[in-house]
Amino acid sequence: MSFSSEVKDELVALETVSTCCQHAQSYGLLLFGRSFSNASVSIAVENRKVSDMYAQCIADITHVPPEYSDRTGKMAIVSVKTAVERRAVLNAFGHDAGELSLRINRANLADDCCFAAFLRGVFLACGTVSSPEKNYHLEFVVPFLKLSNDLVSILQEIGFPPKHIVRKGYHVIYYKDSENIEDILTLMGATNATLKLIGVKISKDVRNHVNRRVNFETANIDRSVIAGSVQVEAILKIEQTRGLDTLPEGLQEIARLRMEHPEASLYELEEMLEGRLSRSGINHRLKRLVQIAEEL
Ligand SMILES: [Zn+2]
Repeated sequence: MSFSSEVKDELVALETVSTCCQHAQSYGLLLFGRSFSNASVSIAVENRKVSDMYAQCIADITHVPPEYSDRTGKMAIVSVKTAVERRAVLNAFGHDAGELSLRINRANLADDCCFAAFLRGVFLACGTVSSPEKNYHLEFVVPFLKLSNDLVSILQEIGFPPKHIVRKGYHVIYYKDSENIEDILTLMGATNATLKLIGVKISKDVRNHVNRRVNFETANIDRSVIAGSVQVEAILKIEQTRGLDTLPEGLQEIARLRMEHPEASLYELEEMLEGRLSRSGINHRLKRLVQIAEEL
């Protein structure tokens, strides 16, 4: 099951206690379906629980069960059969038959509590959210410009200013950041989905951290190998020209040690010397050897 469908199952199962919020949720679901006009009131959704909820909302208003078509296909399409029933549905939310462009009628959002329920309905009708394992993306796909503008205004008012683009003639209102997506899921009441999202985010962060750490350590090893090979070259040059025995004792010891362990880090060299010389002392002598070779 897709993450979207999981979220929708969770939202459908929520109990909306107050009548005002129940009304607002139904309004969001119906208004943001496939059509909401005198000519057609319908929804086309993949999730069967959402199409059943839609059918129930219609039946509660018209007292006539709506028509299901294409129930066997990928999408369930539910539509209101007669003009009389369609008018009853429009009127139940204060819309008239003759409206030219569809807008959100704020009278259906009686109180502050209703915005979350309304948004839940809208998401059930036209929303999707990507699995957080893939990427962070939540969107509402709206067929009408003015309706999408009204939704943007509401989202801005409740503190979630979205981005929007037009895709294949549809107005797409979307979020790409995990914080907003978490907050919207929480607001709509999808607590389990939010927890899952946070869980995935934490494990991604841990994985990134581990990867960064591994890269960092690999880089350090590379650095010590490169340094080692520069030093080995320098020591070879000294040996072939003036000879290692022309060097002071301390430098000779480090030169031999480096030749025996060309890839050892300073830490490892320090351990081999059993604390007789500090890392900075070893480093200093190695640099001195490179310098002597350069002067030759
Ligand atoms: Zn309410």
